[in-house]
Amino acid sequence: MEKLTGIPASLGFISGKALLFVENTFPEIPRISILPAQSPDEIKRLDGAIAAAAAELSLIHERAVQEMSKEQANIFAAHLLMLDDPVFRDELLDRFRETAANMEWVVWDVAREMMQKMMASPDPLFRERAADINDVAKRLLYQLLSIKRASLAELEEDVIVVAHDLLPSEILTMNRRRVKGIVMDAGSRTSHTAILARAFNIPAVVGLAIGTKIIKDGDALIVNGRTGEVLVKPGRKDLSDFRKAATVYHRQMEEFLSLRELPAETMDGGRVMVNANIEIPEEADQVLQYGAEGIGLYRSEFLFLTPGQAAQEERQYHSYTQVLRAMGVRPVTIRTVDIGGDKILPDFHSGDEKNPLLGWRAIRFSLALPDLFKTQLRAILRSSVNGNVKIMFPLISGIEEIEQALALLEEARDECRAAGQAFAEHIGVGAMIEVPSAAITADILAEKMDFFSVGTNDLIQYSLAVDRGNERVSYLARPTHPAVLRFLKHTIDSAHRQGIKAAMCGEMAGDPKVTALLLGLGLDEFSMAAQSIPRVKRVIRSVNMADCRSLVEEVLQGVSWKQNADTVNDWMTEHCPAELAEV
Ligand code: PEP
Ligand code: MG
Repeated sequence: MEKLTGIPASLGFISGKALLFVENTFPEIPRISILPAQSPDEIKRLDGAIAAAAAELSLIHERAVQEMSKEQANIFAAHLLMLDDPVFRDELLDRFRETAANMEWVVWDVAREMMQKMMASPDPLFRERAADINDVAKRLLYQLLSIKRASLAELEEDVIVVAHDLLPSEILTMNRRRVKGIVMDAGSRTSHTAILARAFNIPAVVGLAIGTKIIKDGDALIVNGRTGEVLVKPGRKDLSDFRKAATVYHRQMEEFLSLRELPAETMDGGRVMVNANIEIPEEADQVLQYGAEGIGLYRSEFLFLTPGQAAQEERQYHSYTQVLRAMGVRPVTIRTVDIGGDKILPDFHSGDEKNPLLGWRAIRFSLALPDLFKTQLRAILRSSVNGNVKIMFPLISGIEEIEQALALLEEARDECRAAGQAFAEHIGVGAMIEVPSAAITADILAEKMDFFSVGTNDLIQYSLAVDRGNERVSYLARPTHPAVLRFLKHTIDSAHRQGIKAAMCGEMAGDPKVTALLLGLGLDEFSMAAQSIPRVKRVIRSVNMADCRSLVEEVLQGVSWKQNADTVNDWMTEHCPAELAEV
């Protein structure tokens, strides 16, 4: 047995078999001349490959219908249609006759040309089809080259995925019923892959650095998403300890879940709101089971990042409406897209930015593409008649961005009026506070906004200069750093002086270790991964607001994150039930 320790990224215990996932790259295709006498055989090879790829796809499609969402299943149905399309086959044969080249090269050449044409189209639907062509061509090529390929969408058994890194789009499209755990070399608790693992309730450990070097495909693993431990090839005793710990964990979870109907109120009557963060509309149905009072952050960009979900106004409108209907009268805060940084849209980002995290992302991206931004705003406005919606702008760095965004929101309202489309008259509009310049000028920004929501993942990243996806520096990303606490205090106090609410939707809000600290700072609303709600609520219901304020007074005198973390831990031991002091 070997024990590796990484960063705990998503709660839960799991044991299972490792699937070492190495990224598929497009195979290199040499061009070889085919003699006329070999032509019939080459055509036979193509037909054989098409038939085999189609058979493979039919099976995957059948499985997808049973195990995955309708959208995911539809992607495979579309691929099947393309593969069966006689026009596609004719095009391949024409190119073969023109070039007398080997069939692998012909497939690659035709696919490349089709993709280029699609990518040049102004219509996002066409650009999206380029990804489908890429997938179908690859499948055909792997058949022609007799290469067995791995895909997380096409798993036949339960696995724990072990990867160097996973793209958000890979997590979105993988077969989530089969992936029982995730182990990654890269990433931190606040990287978007970790956020998605929590959203889908898949136990995960990230930032292991050497996981893919040590773990072999098929190895037995135990993953502890609470402590960050990964046991490779566990012995009998490890397995029996694991079973005991998993039973205790599940019992504790059930106990915490029993609080779901109770209010998030301190023992001396301090009432706050506990909301959930979601990434895809389907999550909205689940968050109520965890006791969420609303949705404090809907990361709408994942709609754009999911293949087959080109974010046109109608599709966005339906997704937002789906979430609003699931939540009834409870508030739903839709954040306008935070594309860029580590959430790249190939349609818009060519990958040539030297510092993507300091570059063209979030509100900067939306303000540069006003048509795209207004499409989203109109979709949100129109959906507002179906529930209680709020709008939030990400990565605000100064008042000009707020003014420009509000002006475009006004234009979107005018466009809806002109089209006779109804929308709610009073919609709260807020700013995310996640750039140091916004935190320090929160008093100025508060005058323009209806609420703030602190994005601590980015605020910590930018104020402490720590890339949130880089495991080598993640030890520096400390929520109790005096700089972070001063930013938080100034932001919350500025909101209150202006009479608006201060929320938090970064991962800090879901960390039960700092719940008392945030209560004492005066935070009004906490928003977090649904799986974190029960523990945080349990802490809230176990403490007194007056004690939390005293804790904050002490911590604000602290000179280092370590000193502050120790103060908070000692306080927890003294003021909370034993099982909570260890959370
Ligand atoms: C944050 O930065 O804290 C946040 C909530 O936004 P995201 O994690 O999506 O960047
Ligand atoms: Mg952010």
